[in-house]
Amino acid sequence: MTPLRVLHATAELYPLVKTGGLADVTGALPAAQAALGLDVRVLLPGLPGVHAGMPALHEVARLGPAFGAARVALLQGRLPGSDVTAYVIDAPWLYARNGNPYVRADGSEWPDNHRRFGLLSWVGAQLAAGGLDPAWSPDVVHAHDWHAALTPAYLASQPAARAASVFTIHNLAYQGRFEHDLFPELGLPPWMASLAGIEFHGELRFMKAGLVFADRITTVSPTYAQEILGPEHGHQLDGVLAPRRERLSGIVNGIDDAVWNPATDRALAARYDARRPAGKAACKRALQREFKLTEAADAPLFGIVSRLSHQKGLDLLLDALPALLQAGGQMALLGTGDAAIEHAFRNAATALAGSVGVQIGYDESLAHRIIAGADLIVVPSRFEPCGLTQLYGLRYGTLPLVRRTGGLADTVTDADAPDGTGFVFEHADAGALGWTIGRAAQAFRDTAGWRRMMATAMAQDWSWRGPAAAYHALYQEIARDPQAA
Ligand code: ADP
Repeated sequence: MTPLRVLHATAELYPLVKTGGLADVTGALPAAQAALGLDVRVLLPGLPGVHAGMPALHEVARLGPAFGAARVALLQGRLPGSDVTAYVIDAPWLYARNGNPYVRADGSEWPDNHRRFGLLSWVGAQLAAGGLDPAWSPDVVHAHDWHAALTPAYLASQPAARAASVFTIHNLAYQGRFEHDLFPELGLPPWMASLAGIEFHGELRFMKAGLVFADRITTVSPTYAQEILGPEHGHQLDGVLAPRRERLSGIVNGIDDAVWNPATDRALAARYDARRPAGKAACKRALQREFKLTEAADAPLFGIVSRLSHQKGLDLLLDALPALLQAGGQMALLGTGDAAIEHAFRNAATALAGSVGVQIGYDESLAHRIIAGADLIVVPSRFEPCGLTQLYGLRYGTLPLVRRTGGLADTVTDADAPDGTGFVFEHADAGALGWTIGRAAQAFRDTAGWRRMMATAMAQDWSWRGPAAAYHALYQEIARDPQAA
């Protein structure tokens, strides 16, 4: 039986291009699926990080002028440190831009993003329709987030195409919104310019194409899959999702064991695991030193690694800082994003030196040191499709303190329960967060109880094995070639 062939279309993939959890997922899921016996490939836009990380690429096809670029070629190579084959869209006119893949240095969106990511989707659909690479075409194309969301729309416009499609929502808040006038530049059939297609409230929304045209829609946790059907978390698209609810499901993300494993993590001052946890104390001391915090083993250290956006609820943490200090706690934060939140945390660090340490910026290695060195990882999100830092926390014995929403609700069990692994609060307000910080600090002082919770957390299996199998089952339901399934 030939293995099922799957193509992932994505704008980000760790370690080549990363702005958030999407990259962690696409960086790990393909290899986990290959380990299950699937024939998996990925498609990436040729952003600078992709070319830098994959210097040995060869040409598969020339696509000529497309999407405003005079020269577009499809290249192929292997992902770094992996057997997974990657296709790379070489279009320097569109992709040879340093920094964040979506925005300029000043934070404004690139004005041709509709072409840059329209092209990604278009090539994904051409590969899926067959013929672009004479040696390979997928049974299932799996498109991720708005950047690749037009893939199912292009596929739907080619009735002869055999490949089935899955669209995964990593965050419904980012929808790829563009002026309606740009529609003709996308090369989609004219009827898709309407409400039945990708038009929404007078503009274009790329995300909507994934919701309307994919054979299956997934998101990254069962709770978020329910939440986005309602107006509070639907980001206006709940009405588009409602008629497709039978095709929507949630699969919780996993952890890449090669990257996030305290027993092998090279970024740490000392390595440890559930059986030999002593190294964690050394990581805490090193972190306190690095953030110029008082070197007290008995002060509960609350860590945060996050984008600083309204979604992440860190303004609540700013307001809860008095409660954190009152509870004898310390805080170490790494984050970047909203200028006002950055500013407020910098001020807090100055005013509360010794107890509050803040690093503004993006630093992969420091993220590991915080997740290992802190006692708790705080994720007070207003909404959270899955969330990865709480999973890393569980793996590293750094107990999550989270709001009960989306994937946080699905992955963290409150200390109230016998198999508790963290601390969960309900309402997005500073009072509830502050109270829960106090509760966690108190639990921390019960050393035996705390060790038990750490052991429970570290024993859990958050690997990609389970989720990879869940996606495989989904692909088998929709693959049109029974031979391949
Ligand atoms: P989101 O994708 O919404 O940002 P996730 O929790 O799903 O949130 O994924 C965030 C990923 O980005 C994690 O791997 C986290 O460690 C990483 N991350 C976030 N902010 C930073 C930062 N400032 N420096 C390094 N890594 C970061």
